[in-house]
Amino acid sequence: MTMLTIGVVKEATPGEHRVALVPGEIGKLGAAGVAVLVETGAGAGAWFPDDAYAKAGAEIVTADELCVQADLIVSVAGPTAEMTSRLRPGQAFLGTLTPLENPGLVCELARRGVTAISFDGLPRTVSRAQSMDALTSQSNVAGYKAVLVAANAFGRYFPMLITAAGTARPARVFVLGAGVAGLQAIGTARRLGAVVSAYDVRPQAHEDVKSLGADFVDVGAALAVDGGAGRAVDGAGEGGYARALSAAEQRAQQEALAAHVARADVIITTAQVPGRPPPLLVTEEAVKAMGPGSVIVDLAASRFGGNVALSRPGETIVTENGVTIVGAENLPATVPTAASAGYSRNVAALLLHMVRGGRLVIDPADEIQAGVLVTHDGRITRPALADPRPDGPNS
Ligand code: NAD
Repeated sequence: MTMLTIGVVKEATPGEHRVALVPGEIGKLGAAGVAVLVETGAGAGAWFPDDAYAKAGAEIVTADELCVQADLIVSVAGPTAEMTSRLRPGQAFLGTLTPLENPGLVCELARRGVTAISFDGLPRTVSRAQSMDALTSQSNVAGYKAVLVAANAFGRYFPMLITAAGTARPARVFVLGAGVAGLQAIGTARRLGAVVSAYDVRPQAHEDVKSLGADFVDVGAALAVDGGAGRAVDGAGEGGYARALSAAEQRAQQEALAAHVARADVIITTAQVPGRPPPLLVTEEAVKAMGPGSVIVDLAASRFGGNVALSRPGETIVTENGVTIVGAENLPATVPTAASAGYSRNVAALLLHMVRGGRLVIDPADEIQAGVLVTHDGRITRPALADPRPDGPNS
């Protein structure tokens, strides 16, 4: 059988401890005609040493050897500028490329004739794609870790404790955004004994929140600003995601949430709208109304903004009124073994879907491939990403 050779890189981003493929997945790829090269030390940050990969049947190579020999390079993030400059026509790259945020990278990959495959576009509601859903596996880790980060920064207990030294009331945790990360945060905070409430702009999230034993904070009616006469606003968009709210709806939402924010001891925010900056849910005014010792963990904090007015990615600040705001950045990388194991299963499932007879078979007519394929044959394959410039790769 022909063998497709894939290469597992050592991630280059500072603080990135995950690895795209763990030794446990190599056997099933081998059976499908996939040979695996692993860059020296690629799994060390997630506690998968080189000899575990070698025992599983992989060949340990240098970064240079990997770039030259691999037909397809697998990674957690996108390629570094240095690696991009070495990719050759016909070579493929699989990762989480965040193409909407990195249009320059997408153009360059197309220009170089690289087949770029990214998990971001996976159709998540297609049931056969669920085992490939890296956004879900990593959001689950982020939601779990966000609660631990909050508990660590919080000066009190999460559970109610009755001891000889007195009774401690449970922490009130408020989760904003009840998608994958938010639901995992709700479950984790409940397991730690907190009293949990949550809010999401998609009405469908109501049932999910209730099923985890948390209260749903319903401010839908307050958002009906454009003559809605108290009718609850539906914030659902396409593909199970939320839509971007109008400026007036956003203001109404911030005002309606402020009273709930002020009552919370701990807030975890996870709200995202694909291709847009994260919505601002907690204003500076709302933070000022919180009690000293309260904690906010903003999972949406990024260079594009966040859900909380004062949060900065990778930074923890304490406001004048004693609120700790953690701008959480790449939390999955801080639980690297579990996050890598999940991501690796997603990588293997997607590859097994795309590899036939030991070859990577690109089929844009396939619903899953149409979602994950970003560039192929010198072109940008997703219309939303196509470069409109006259000299762009699709011109
Ligand atoms: P996401 O990361 O895009 O956003 C997180 C949450 O923020 C979402 O629940 C969204 O509704 C919410 N949000 C956005 N704007 C908001 C605002 N202004 N106010 C309050 N909340 C706001 O979403 P995700 O976690 O990746 O999940 C996206 C969708 O995909 C969800 O509907 C989820 O249930 C669905 N999903 C389905 C499957 C499946 O069917 N197997 C798997 C994974 C995810």
